[in-house]
Amino acid sequence: MNSNEIDIHKELKKYFGFSQFKGLQEQVITSLMKKQNTFVIMPTGGGKSLCYQLPALIQEGTAVVVSPLIALMKNQVDAIRSLSSENGIAHVLNSSLTKTETAQVKKDITSGLTKLLYVAPESLTKEENVSFLRSVPISFVAIDEAHCISEWGHDFRPEYRNLKNIIKQIGDVPVIGLTATATPKVQEDILKNLDMANAVTFKASFNRPNLFYEVRTKTKNVESDIIRFIRQHKGKSGVIYCLSRKKVEAIAEVLKVNGISAVPYHAGLDAKTRAKHQDMFLMEDVEVVVATIAFGMGIDKPDVRFVIHHDIPKSLESYYQETGRAGRDGGEGHCLAYYSYKDVEKLEKFMSGKPVAEQEIGFALLQEVVAYAETSMSRRKFLLHYFGEEFDSETGEGADMDDNVRNPKTKVEAKNEVVK
Ligand code: ADP
Ligand code: MG
Repeated sequence: MNSNEIDIHKELKKYFGFSQFKGLQEQVITSLMKKQNTFVIMPTGGGKSLCYQLPALIQEGTAVVVSPLIALMKNQVDAIRSLSSENGIAHVLNSSLTKTETAQVKKDITSGLTKLLYVAPESLTKEENVSFLRSVPISFVAIDEAHCISEWGHDFRPEYRNLKNIIKQIGDVPVIGLTATATPKVQEDILKNLDMANAVTFKASFNRPNLFYEVRTKTKNVESDIIRFIRQHKGKSGVIYCLSRKKVEAIAEVLKVNGISAVPYHAGLDAKTRAKHQDMFLMEDVEVVVATIAFGMGIDKPDVRFVIHHDIPKSLESYYQETGRAGRDGGEGHCLAYYSYKDVEKLEKFMSGKPVAEQEIGFALLQEVVAYAETSMSRRKFLLHYFGEEFDSETGEGADMDDNVRNPKTKVEAKNEVVK
């Protein structure tokens, strides 16, 4: 089969039922089908999965998809299987399989039935798996959540560092790396660690024009300020992020006492309670979820209208991800962060127990959050600049959607403060 002979629009319709590609999908798929190493940077929800799923389905051989979370893999496999009557079309290969199941997976791959094989990076360190993959036709290797390879990303996984060697053992196949982390540093790390400086890179804009960004100074009145904000957004859904479980519980309680329907969400609650609270939020039985960062992975509620950070996040990537859960439907999304230098010190203290290299990275990332909080320039411009993107704060989309642009600060004189 020659890639030029395939009408990928027709295949898109056939397998996924979509009549159009989203954003850069078509260009990415064309690049991968030309057997080029390809690197994709797209925000969450941008449609990265399809960039490797469609080429996998329509090419010969099996595509190996590396993904960090077993739960994510399972979701994807179920979704792919629903597209086709063929049962073996997508498989997971990881430590949760029995010997019999593993044998069946390998059989389906050998017979050419399996188009997508999702693997955890740990499974690829097993010699028997690597030598098996070397013996069967592989169309390409996709590395999802590729930022896991970088210590500068928000989710470093040491096993990702081995991937380059393993891919070389599997064979001379094209590689596609995908991530929603857009900082130039992480991108550089990914290309270096995967040894794909030659990759064709596709980067979508990270601008979310419908989100309004605001930072307020955190005072002792922060709780009543939050309550007032929520009352101004009556009947709308929102998330409040806090640093600690204790704070989550406390704020949820304060809201309830004040007649606002809210539930807590953090890793200290048992799985059943977490699932219940998440469902209550999704079904709109409650207006507000008060949560640690444990909340949000894979939550797809389109009409979240506000995301409040009671405590500042540890990096701007986290901030972007967490606020990104607002306004998915393109409607209003207010992103409000409370900032105090005390919280910065708290986070620094938190980090001081960690290994030195990790600390240094942590401090550097935190300094960017401080700079964002303290800037008087367009917050959107600041965020996008951090992601390596130039934004015109006069004519760009959403240019007036932040506190600094709406109410420009007159130069603040530092009173009673020693200026360095
Ligand atoms: P990402 O991995 O970039 O966060 P996903 O691959 O999970 O994004 O896709 C996000 C959503 O976009 C999914 O619900 C998916 O079905 C949808 N989607 C992807 N491609 C298209 C398309 N061409 N047309 C319409 N919807 C699409
Ligand atoms: Mg994804």
